[in-house]
Amino acid sequence: MKQAELYELAFRAWGAARQVATAIEEMAELIQLLARIRRYGSEGDWDPERIAEEIADVEIMTGQLRHCLAGVTEKRIQRWKRHKKRRLWKRLKAAPITTFSYVYCVKHKIPMEPSDTPEGRLVCPACLEEQNARIPTD
Ligand SMILES: [Mg+2]
Ligand SMILES: [Zn+2]
Repeated sequence: MKQAELYELAFRAWGAARQVATAIEEMAELIQLLARIRRYGSEGDWDPERIAEEIADVEIMTGQLRHCLAGVTEKRIQRWKRHKKRRLWKRLKAAPITTFSYVYCVKHKIPMEPSDTPEGRLVCPACLEEQNARIPTD
């Protein structure tokens, strides 16, 4: 079964109101998860499986919204995506090159950042903070 058929079927089985409600719920779940991640792993562990699951939920629901909302055609969505991607590309060309990392601290499960040292080696900001707290001040 093609994806479009599956989504169409879900819409016909449960109706637009229910699909819109579920989309809201799934998006809220991803928002909550991202908010926790942003708070630098203060709650729970870095869980790529969980993040992937929530992203999948939202993608499935936005896929279904295409079939629930009158006049929201694939053509319109694709036109907007082209426009936004072009704009993103223009902004990227003008943006300064920054270093960012997908390397996470094993202890804190947060992204490592380049340090101020000449080698610019990656350090965990939370580990650094802990280290600094241990240094006695007078
Ligand atoms: Mg979910
Ligand atoms: Zn750390």
